[in-house]
Amino acid sequence: MPLQIIRQDITKIECDAIVNAANKTLLGGGGVDGAIHRAAGNGLLKECIKLHGCEVGEAKATKGYKLPAKYVIHTVGPKWKGGDNNERELLSLCYKNSLLKAKELGCESIAFPLISTGVYGYPVEEGFNVAVEVISDFLNDCDMLVYLVVFNKSALAAGSKKFSEIDEYIDDNYVEARYDLRYANRDIEAEESVAFNAPDMAPTAPSKAGSGKMEKRGERSDEAAFTGGFEAAQTPKDIFDGIQIDESFSQMLLRKIDEKGMKDSECYKKANIDRKLFSKIRSNPHYKPSKQTAIAFAVALELPLGEFNEMLVKAGYSLSHSFKSDVIIEYFVKKGNYNIFEINEALFMYDQALLGA
Ligand code: ADP
Repeated sequence: MPLQIIRQDITKIECDAIVNAANKTLLGGGGVDGAIHRAAGNGLLKECIKLHGCEVGEAKATKGYKLPAKYVIHTVGPKWKGGDNNERELLSLCYKNSLLKAKELGCESIAFPLISTGVYGYPVEEGFNVAVEVISDFLNDCDMLVYLVVFNKSALAAGSKKFSEIDEYIDDNYVEARYDLRYANRDIEAEESVAFNAPDMAPTAPSKAGSGKMEKRGERSDEAAFTGGFEAAQTPKDIFDGIQIDESFSQMLLRKIDEKGMKDSECYKKANIDRKLFSKIRSNPHYKPSKQTAIAFAVALELPLGEFNEMLVKAGYSLSHSFKSDVIIEYFVKKGNYNIFEINEALFMYDQALLGA
């Protein structure tokens, strides 16, 4: 998954580089800066002294010392002064320059904190959006694994209108699904008890399946139809050879990419899917993706709900109101919002598995 939103102490992440939200002196401070210096040890401070500070928006690299990361990329975020003082541009530069520095160092993975959103006061949701925008732009041209660390999840959720709308949608649909299931099960139980206890009686209530005609087990019309077509001389192989196999998941995926006039790379990037995995799916018509991967492609293709589900069925899945994650995804699809990073932000906030691979 090229961009992953995670909740973890950045000093513990094993990747090529972690980014430090430093101050202009580069000599350590509070928040994430202090945590990084404490975990890296004195060697980091000694090297930082030699860098002679850093301007807002710039990025400078040191080794990682006692950290699991090989490098620390230090960048200085803007202080929030109301939003009309170039804060957005400067914050974008922090992410951009840090990514370019990582690329220059040959890093394959990097972890960012939400720069400026602590002591420097940048509104968390907006700071998060800037991060996602710059990182996803960068990933359009470069392959790298980028972790975006959301240390303070409640700060991200606070005051965001979009989560209250999602909450409402979950309430309306997730709860309703549980209600429906309860009743659906009761219907099945009722039908089964009639079938087992009084097989020869005409049913007093119409069966949910349709005709209202009660059949004994072993005498169902679908079974009869199937066995009726079974010639004694035919082997199972003969029968299966005669069955038309549907288009597979990867065949549908490639067809849809062509129909939409997309490039392969455009599709797997929009799906937050790693290039190598896409190649595997491309070259194997029988590839069975995980549910997250299948959904990610349906999102990237911007399929309306019907086709969205059709594509999932090809991989053996469907969106179900019994899973909160599916309800959240359905909410976005119905709204026509196919931005995978926004969907992942919501899934992250509700502690659900993220889309992509
Ligand atoms: P700034 O001065 O740039 O605002 P802060 O360190 O005060 O920097 O905060 C930046 C972000 O880093 C905040 O969102 C804060 O929650 C987060 N943060 C603080 N400690 C850690 C940590 N150990 N790992 C990851 N993120 C952290």
